[in-house]
Amino acid sequence: MTENKYLLLTPGPLTTTAAVKEAMLRDWCTWDRDYNDLVEKLRGDLVEMALRDRAKRAGYTAVLMQGSGTFAVESVIGSVIPQGGKLAVLSNGAYGRRIAEIAGILKVPAVELRFDECERPDAETLAVMLDDDPAVTHVAVVHCETTTGILNDIESVARAAKSRGKKLIVDAMSSFGGIPLFMDALEIDFLISSANKCIEGVPGFAFVLANRAALSECAGLARSLSLDLYGQWKTMEEHGGKWRFTSPTHVVCAFAEALRELKAEGGAAARNRRYAANRDMLVRGMEDLGFKALLPAELRSPVITSFLYPDGIGFDFAEFYESLKRDGYVIYPGKLSERDTFRIGNIGDIREKQIAGLLAAVERYVKRSEARPLCA
Ligand SMILES: *Cc1c(COP(=O)(O)O)cnc(C)c1O
Repeated sequence: MTENKYLLLTPGPLTTTAAVKEAMLRDWCTWDRDYNDLVEKLRGDLVEMALRDRAKRAGYTAVLMQGSGTFAVESVIGSVIPQGGKLAVLSNGAYGRRIAEIAGILKVPAVELRFDECERPDAETLAVMLDDDPAVTHVAVVHCETTTGILNDIESVARAAKSRGKKLIVDAMSSFGGIPLFMDALEIDFLISSANKCIEGVPGFAFVLANRAALSECAGLARSLSLDLYGQWKTMEEHGGKWRFTSPTHVVCAFAEALRELKAEGGAAARNRRYAANRDMLVRGMEDLGFKALLPAELRSPVITSFLYPDGIGFDFAEFYESLKRDGYVIYPGKLSERDTFRIGNIGDIREKQIAGLLAAVERYVKRSEARPLCA
């Protein structure tokens, strides 16, 4: 087996286990019964994971969609809002803004409620907006805004939307599988996530978990053929796990192994504890080395942590990145409009040992930088 050149401390693609990679070493027929049975099993497992009350299973369903996470977001926005409907998007980062951008391109009427990137979207503001604009039929919100790593309070948003009879769309891309989240408890109609984030598979497809009744109303609404969520669902339902178009077979097999590993670890609650331990160790170590986390502790998700560029050591992100990469760790640049940050992911097959190794690599960089005279 080929060794990785570096560990990915990025929130997808991320560091996967050897078994997940090995699961891709066989070729599968896309319409064969064995393969489609595997797909059906995955769909059922995903629905179960998303429910607090398993007795509600029959009311929910899963649709797998080729492409990265954005493809699935686009398939939902393009397939579930009827003519005459209107979407309200809560945004406090790049992924919320992307939902509004998708609506714009698809000409879905939409209003974006924009919040500061270091603040949670406020449910009270949403409530006032919904009362003022009864044309809104759907509300979309991001659970963990990966831009900063902020964990949004989707419970209060869900209450504001559902108590007013709106359909609720949640982008849980970077949280599902790593942060417990229950569609039935929050009455989420469409929950979107992908293979290569907290479930720790490899990139290639995403999925939408849907309230069956809400999805059943979406026949003929799609603004795209390949991203028609209802069409994809119908084929999977009626042909027992068959995808409409070529399915990413190797990726699906890797995902099946990743889901098995997630269950063996103890599910989203156990994984959440591991990620939080990674984050806490990371933040403590980085603070000891003179870095500051962007967000206050109470807003930080366990998924990814943003750090401000440090003062005083002539910090150069490109140089920092290359130095860590040479030592075997790849991190993420920042994505903020207003402040200079970089991000480190806490997800993937990463534990204390890997975080300790990263911190040692950061320390080597800091020591070298401190030894070097600052020049203008
Ligand atoms: C990763 C991510 C997406 C989708 O990104 P892709 O690059 O298309 O996979 C969407 N929303 C959030 C919150 C994400 O973290």
